[in-house]
This record gives sequence, C-alpha cells and structure tokens, in this order.
Amino acid sequence: MQSAMNQTCPICNSTDWKAEYEGPVRDGVFGKYDDGTVWKCNGCGVSHLPPRQTSLEAYYQSDEYREDVGEQADPQDYFSRHDDEQFDKARFLKGTSFRGKVIADIGCAGGSFLDVAKGLAEASIAIEPGKSYHASLIERGHLVYGSLESAAVEWAGKVDVAVCFSVIEHVADPVEFLAGIRRLLKSDGVLVLSTPNHRDALLEFSGDPYRSFFYRWVHPWYFDEDCLRSASTKCGMTFEPHYVQRFSFANFAAWLREGKPTGNGHDAALGPVFDDVWKSTLEAQKKSDYLYGFCRPAA
Ligand SMILES: [Zn+2]
Repeated sequence: MQSAMNQTCPICNSTDWKAEYEGPVRDGVFGKYDDGTVWKCNGCGVSHLPPRQTSLEAYYQSDEYREDVGEQADPQDYFSRHDDEQFDKARFLKGTSFRGKVIADIGCAGGSFLDVAKGLAEASIAIEPGKSYHASLIERGHLVYGSLESAAVEWAGKVDVAVCFSVIEHVADPVEFLAGIRRLLKSDGVLVLSTPNHRDALLEFSGDPYRSFFYRWVHPWYFDEDCLRSASTKCGMTFEPHYVQRFSFANFAAWLREGKPTGNGHDAALGPVFDDVWKSTLEAQKKSDYLYGFCRPAA
C-alpha cells in the first residue's frame, strides 16, 4: 500500500488524508479485484482512490474503459443495457420542461437520455470522450463534443439543463469538471447529477465484502452530500441533494447472508409495500445507494 497521500484535495485544498480502506478493490466486472488504498480527506470528507492510469483522459477516449466494466464500446450494446434506465431518471426532471430548451448530457456514452429528450429540445448536446459513440450520436441528430472545453467554445452560458449521470466519480479533478459544466449553464440553468452515495447503508452494515465491491478502480472519487456541496460552492453553484435507493431489501439481506451481489432480480422478500418503506427509510436517513444533486448557479 501507499504509506501516505501527498496530493492536495481539489475540493478543500487540504493535504491531510487518512487511509479509509485498504484491501481488494473491484476491477471491472464483479469477481475481479486488485488491492488498493482509499484515502479520506480530513478537510471535506471526500474519498479518493489514486487511479492506476497516468492519463484518465486517454483512458476514456479509448474503448478500454467500457471493456474494463464488462460492456462493449458500441452504441447498440449501450442501448441494450441503459435504455430502460432513462424513465427512472426522468422523474428527477419533473417540473422541468425541455421544450425549446438547450440540453446537454455530460458523459452521455451512447446517448439514451438525449434520445428521450431530443424531441422537445431546441438543441441536444452530447459531451462524450469515448470516440466509438460519436458517429452514432451525430447520426441521431445530437451536437457532439469530445470535452467540456470544446463544447464551451460554442455553448458557454447557453445551456438550460445539463445532466451528468454517474460520471463525476470517474474524472481526474471533480472541481475542474463541475466548473466546466457551470461555464456552460445559463444563469437560471440547472445541472442534475448523480453518483454512488458514500453513506450507502451497506458500507455500514456489510463491512469489507461490500467495501471491496463498492470501491472500484474506475472510480477515483467517492462523495457524500457535504463534499458535493463544497465542490459545487467552489464552482459558484448551490447544491440540493436528492437520495435514491435503487436496490431492494432482498439484495441487502443477500449481502449480509452471502457477502456478494445478487442484483435486483429476486422478488421482494417481504413484498413491495415493505420494500417501499425500506427504500424511503434509507432515503430519509441519507443512506441510500445513490445520490442525485441539483446544482444551480448561485445568485
Ligand atoms: Zn477535501
């Protein structure tokens, strides 16, 4: 293991880190591990797993990343895995109309979300480093950029709604990343983002088997509400959290029993009513497995 971390925290500038976890860390699909140390910043509470790649940018531009997580870097494979998630996300955008708006999806991969929103929007902007997706995104009528910087040339201050689902945990510097998104937003625009919640109840109850699953080599950063708010504030945005529990009580029980993931496939062990109570309880206690946030340019 590394005996110390001498990096400066991008969120709070602290150099005071303590080892939060040392041991096997998920490497791509479930079942493969490589030992690592996750460090927690004593200043703001963000946790960091120093990435093995020297350039994360090059990693996400190539097909290597999708292959490392057991997917194929082509649009059809992406649609088959992710199309059905889009309507779940749409509930966060209740009260937000896309009609006549400029929307941007940062880290959109195959662009399933943009396909759903495009019919109403004035413009749909796809920001995605993975080049394998570009031709198909262009063919479906989206405006495609490989980075926030290249999108900003045309779209700085012009985006009404930006979405960024399960991406911020992957980037080299989350503050630089949020600042890049902030640059695109109109003064009354909004960013909706999501990331795994570092207060996930299973980290508390299951212990090390779940930790070695939760921490992943493809995720250098782990956030809770407080450090995401600090990062947003640093970029001139307010932050409003929204907790979402995706996995059922049966999944939780299976983790405690078997120490491994069994997914959401099994029936709710105690019925759907209990499962709804289970999920809303975790969400109310801020211990759900996922954390969404609404970031808005500060007045
Ligand atoms: Zn910090």
